[in-house]
Amino acid sequence: MMENVLRVALIEARKHSAERILDIDLVVGELTFLNLDQLQFAFETLSKGTLAEKAKLNIETMRASIKCSRCGYAGPISYEGPEDHLGYVGVFLKCGICESHDLEVISGKECVIRNLKVKTSSKKRRRR
Ligand SMILES: [Zn+2]
Repeated sequence: MMENVLRVALIEARKHSAERILDIDLVVGELTFLNLDQLQFAFETLSKGTLAEKAKLNIETMRASIKCSRCGYAGPISYEGPEDHLGYVGVFLKCGICESHDLEVISGKECVIRNLKVKTSSKKRRRR
């Protein structure tokens, strides 16, 4: 997951001939069940030696949407049990209208970069 994010960030950065990536705003769907600390750690490990090293990672969690196969409801998801649902598996998901578990996930499983702040060099870089 993080490998992809980093790859995209680096491709973007090169497009803008960036010297360094300063900030990455990341939107993470809540159904990825990713732990933010783990994401941060994975990022720090993977970004070592790349343009993204020491970049600031801003992670925002996005609410998931589902479509119910039984009643046709589409929209935000409901959960059974406690609201601290992150980290649980999909069986706790249910339709907010008919409480069916027969759901199709529309969004909430993605992990995308919303914004990228880079430092570009004003001068042309000289190569040795
Ligand atoms: Zn339903």
